[in-house]
Amino acid sequence: MMRITPLEDWILERTHLATKSQEALRAYQLEKIRKTLYYAKEKSRFYNEQLKETDLNSITSLSDFEQIPFTTPLDIKRHAHDFLCVSAHEVERIVTLNTSGTTGDEKRLFFTHEDLEETIDFFQYGMNCLVEKGDKVMVLLPGSAFGSIGDLLKKALWRSGIECVVHGVLQDVEKVAACIEEHHITCIVGIPMQVRYLSLMKPELFNTHIQKVLLSTDYVPDALVKTLSRNGTCKVFNHYGMTEMGYGGGVECGCLNGYHLRENHLYFEIIDPVTGKRVSDGEYGEVVFTTLNRQAMPLIRYKTGDTARFVTKPCGCGTFLRTMEKVRGRMENNVIINAHEVSLRDLDEIILANDAVMDYRAHCDEKKALHVKLIVSKTAEIQTLQKALYQAMDAHFKGVFTLNIDALEDDGSSKITNSMIKRKIDTGKMEMRV
Ligand SMILES: [Zn+2]
Repeated sequence: MMRITPLEDWILERTHLATKSQEALRAYQLEKIRKTLYYAKEKSRFYNEQLKETDLNSITSLSDFEQIPFTTPLDIKRHAHDFLCVSAHEVERIVTLNTSGTTGDEKRLFFTHEDLEETIDFFQYGMNCLVEKGDKVMVLLPGSAFGSIGDLLKKALWRSGIECVVHGVLQDVEKVAACIEEHHITCIVGIPMQVRYLSLMKPELFNTHIQKVLLSTDYVPDALVKTLSRNGTCKVFNHYGMTEMGYGGGVECGCLNGYHLRENHLYFEIIDPVTGKRVSDGEYGEVVFTTLNRQAMPLIRYKTGDTARFVTKPCGCGTFLRTMEKVRGRMENNVIINAHEVSLRDLDEIILANDAVMDYRAHCDEKKALHVKLIVSKTAEIQTLQKALYQAMDAHFKGVFTLNIDALEDDGSSKITNSMIKRKIDTGKMEMRV
């Protein structure tokens, strides 16, 4: 039997639950939710307005809580400062997320010292899902700034006595490879498409050094996991998180079958994005979360835009905690082409199944034709690859749109692109389904 997720003991220790049960954990969360509601309504201008009509004394169960309005990313973009519940000098870190590259379309998030401490605490126990004494971790995520994800991870691992090199996002494959050799790195934490790229450029490192990978910041296609773990020597773990969650949200146990969640700090719901009603366990919907202890900027029923579902069967590790199936991608990454839904995920599963493809971009034009530009390895047989992809795409999408596949050899200049980090189907003016 697989080792039980370390998150279980951590959550039991931090929450002092009377019994090891879902019911006890829900009761704990309800108590924390109620406190958060009162706190946020009293301290933040946004929730004072948002909860104006709500009699908080009437919220006595988790189903009562479902009447509370959602908070959206747009709310944060428009009124970030109105979310603040503490004075400016208590804010230890401000994160500005520029989601589209245009000014005025930024999200600002605030954290106090205690908020960051909670994240470090989660990272420490979350990393225990995959690392143990003797492991050496390299973080290919931003980490130079105080309170950045890399900085917090390093602090967390230090508490467990695990050596960690925070390298920053992958920019130079040779440099990263040399660093892996020099420090005898055994585990990489990084962005899915970037770690895939590294493994294709330097497969030998994944045979000799890297035994474990933790993928974060983006959803993870199955084809990508296959590439990373194909020789069986590397185990690929998924982490689910976003800055709004305080970076961390959940991490897979050794069963690699979905995440166990940071349930002492966050309450997760899955809702129907159209009706806003909670869906049954096992059904897909939009992930919504509420922070339970956040001081600077609590978020109540925050809509993530991610699609996932709760697993109905208990996890193979034997924990009493819930399991959320791996996120299937962002809803905004689905486009409708000739009444047919095309998601980035569908494209990923087909295109990334080819290890000759290093990266790709997809663009849908106004005539509803899909253009795919592949960046391929120097050794790729471009015509064979194109032919195989035309066939695979046609079999999947049954020719509902015109497809144009273009291939470019990876000349090194395009190797690390922003598109590996912020991935989407480019639609130009075409309306996105939200
Ligand atoms: Zn498990």
